[in-house]
Amino acid sequence: MCGIYAYIGKKRNATSAVFDGLKRLDYRGYDSWGIAVINDHKILLNKHVGKVNKALLKLPKSSIAIGHTRWATHGAVTDLNAHPHFSSDKSFILAQNGIMENHEEIKVNLFKKYYKFISQTDTEVIVRLIEEESIKAKNIIEAIRKAFNKLRGRNTIIILTKDGQVVGVRNGSPLVLGFSKDKTEIYFSSDTLSFAPYVDQTLTLENGNMAIYSEGKITLKDVVTGKNIDLKDEKNKIQKQKVAKGKYKHFMIKEIYEQPNVIRAVIKQDFTSLKKLATQIKKSKNVYCIGSGTAGAAAAQIAFYLRTFGKINAISLIGAEASEYVDLINKNDLVIAPSQSGETADVLEFVEKVKKLKKVKFASYVNMQGSLMSRLSDFKFMANAGPEICVMSTKVFVSQISWGYLLAKIVEGKYKKGINNLIKLSQKINKLLNSKTNINRLKNLARILSRQKDIFILGKGQNLQIIKEGMVKIIEGSYIHAHGISAGDLKHYAITLMEKGVPVIFVISNDEVRDDVINAMNEVKARRADVYLLEDKEKSETSAISNIVSLQLLAYYIALFKGNDIDKPRNIAKSVTVK
Ligand code: GLU
Repeated sequence: MCGIYAYIGKKRNATSAVFDGLKRLDYRGYDSWGIAVINDHKILLNKHVGKVNKALLKLPKSSIAIGHTRWATHGAVTDLNAHPHFSSDKSFILAQNGIMENHEEIKVNLFKKYYKFISQTDTEVIVRLIEEESIKAKNIIEAIRKAFNKLRGRNTIIILTKDGQVVGVRNGSPLVLGFSKDKTEIYFSSDTLSFAPYVDQTLTLENGNMAIYSEGKITLKDVVTGKNIDLKDEKNKIQKQKVAKGKYKHFMIKEIYEQPNVIRAVIKQDFTSLKKLATQIKKSKNVYCIGSGTAGAAAAQIAFYLRTFGKINAISLIGAEASEYVDLINKNDLVIAPSQSGETADVLEFVEKVKKLKKVKFASYVNMQGSLMSRLSDFKFMANAGPEICVMSTKVFVSQISWGYLLAKIVEGKYKKGINNLIKLSQKINKLLNSKTNINRLKNLARILSRQKDIFILGKGQNLQIIKEGMVKIIEGSYIHAHGISAGDLKHYAITLMEKGVPVIFVISNDEVRDDVINAMNEVKARRADVYLLEDKEKSETSAISNIVSLQLLAYYIALFKGNDIDKPRNIAKSVTVK
């Protein structure tokens, strides 16, 4: 995952500009951070374990700086393994987002040539490889290019040379450039949001693009051929978005409260584009919905809606386990991926493969602008949910499943009904969020649950993925073990764990499986477990979507009572751009 950032310009102090940028990027990883600046033709470096911390920043003012925030994949979380990594002669320094898959074999070869390694990272192998290429190459740019073409895996790198050149190369993990209005300031970053307030235009690098800053200007090259690419056609006007907690204590709770509006944004989706996708869905033999983590639950819920309302053979996959489907899928099938970032590595790998090998059509529903997934899409949809800053996803999940519901209603031929139901849903969630009684009940339950070691959540049918997502939210935010099971499957195994004092939450809707869930509840009660009920009495096709809001609130308050870092839970990162 990891975040990459750079600033070149005289209007701001590059050191603090990069520091601020890293703060905005640390949702991508917060194992360690590092900043390197140019000072008197020398590169000075600061790097530390933990979250970005002003007290530890001891670098002079500068006009050129690069920075990195790490989510460790290779090598422990130590100061030494933190990025950026110096070349042996300190003439350049490099930070990476990704995994160099062939680092072991290349390292062995470099060892034989007496290169020394001081860290355990794959990143340092890239640094030494560039040094090795420099011996023959006519300049550092050529050396970087040659070395980059030898890397396997998805890798994006940024390099600062002691002469003040900044080079960014993208393959896989995102890299975006930003330009101030008067063009005198240039930013590099892993996302547009982190520099949005300061720039007027952006340029999203494609895979295989190399952006070089040297002596006041940027040039763009194809990393494979080394040929220049025309910059003029590539730049986009930035869409400014505000990022502030406002009256809320955390981004998570703010984002939960934004959900009625997020559903309104789904209602405003362009009907013609949705209709085109619905037609493709009907033409397809199988529809595969794919995602990872929370987006995996969203993909499964979208598949559920397509089966239930559209009567479509929709299958859900999780990114990490999708590879065995590559052989089964063919060009009469369709892949749909909901994603917050549009950069999830395992999903992207699957999509790239099936598009290339099997010419499969692909639809995406993404929240971040300019993502790789959007660009690969035959049918592209933007969630327009606004920036989601909390590492745990809430509003984007609700957006994804509301979109899936609407899509399924269009496939069913009931667009109007779908829209009306979403309008009602938005009002209902608004009420739920503003009901003091409701919130107090959830808080009381959260207080009890925050003292538990295991929490069970049971549901069925439309609520099956909802309880799974509720489980994900509790695990992520409170570090308590949670277990989401189909209420019907309970008696096949987990019933052995039901005994006095075990907390079990039942999520129930007023639908055809209600009685089954009530039966399971009675079985659990008979074993004297502590049963809690989250019930939606209203008969509604979108009941599951309002139920997840209650579970999100519950997870938020449990994490709050535990005193955890809610917006940045330990060990995880928001956009998983490595496999
Ligand atoms: N492989 C690099 C490391 O472990 C970067 C990891 C990443 O991008 O998540 O330091």
